[in-house]
Amino acid sequence: MEDTTSMKSWRLEVIGNCVQAEEYDSFIGGKPKLPPDIDIPKCELCGNELTFMFQVAFPQGHVWAGKSLAVFYCVESWHDRYCIPELPQRIVDADISEEFLRNYERNFHVIVFDTPIGKMVDTYQEKIAFQILKTIPEKQTKQEWDFVMGGRPIWIMGISEKPNTIAGIEKPALLLQIKEDFHFPILPTAPKQANPFAPGGLSLFPWYDLFVSNRIYFWGVQSNGTERIYISVQRP
Ligand SMILES: [Zn+2]
Repeated sequence: MEDTTSMKSWRLEVIGNCVQAEEYDSFIGGKPKLPPDIDIPKCELCGNELTFMFQVAFPQGHVWAGKSLAVFYCVESWHDRYCIPELPQRIVDADISEEFLRNYERNFHVIVFDTPIGKMVDTYQEKIAFQILKTIPEKQTKQEWDFVMGGRPIWIMGISEKPNTIAGIEKPALLLQIKEDFHFPILPTAPKQANPFAPGGLSLFPWYDLFVSNRIYFWGVQSNGTERIYISVQRP
């Protein structure tokens, strides 16, 4: 029998040239909306404040409906071996242990919270241009969509890297995918992204990338009211 819950998806359409307002819960850049007691996370490798990349609010019908997920990443230092999330020893059918996750978020950080308690962090100095992510229900998943919640994983390297378990829990949910080669356009005032291959060690481009522009898969499990996230990537 076909599993219809895994067919359900939500495409997130990127809409630029907008002014940020409190009403938007899914967006790229601008200022994050976070629970009032949460600070902007710092990079555990270089100590700099992490850059707010994007956040999404999972809609009704999604396995994490009512939750939001916000992603922060270190753009001001180059962390060679952590430019993508740490890989487990076995990538196919991986069992992602509690121990593995304990030190997992070094130069990035994912915050999960109840959507209604998020408040715009007015003191945050935005670096990425604000763009709305408009949620559109779909019944399929297409590789060319920039962001898609739920649906099915598009394995651009041809092999499935769906984890078997996360923190001992089976059947992790595919929460979100970001298309390969997606760019986060930055404001003219923002520092350029660290890039050891560019002259002067700084990217020449007016955008940031997340996990060196791989296709990104966010997996999640919930246990005892706690959310655990594991991120896999595939190279275009
Ligand atoms: Zn750093």
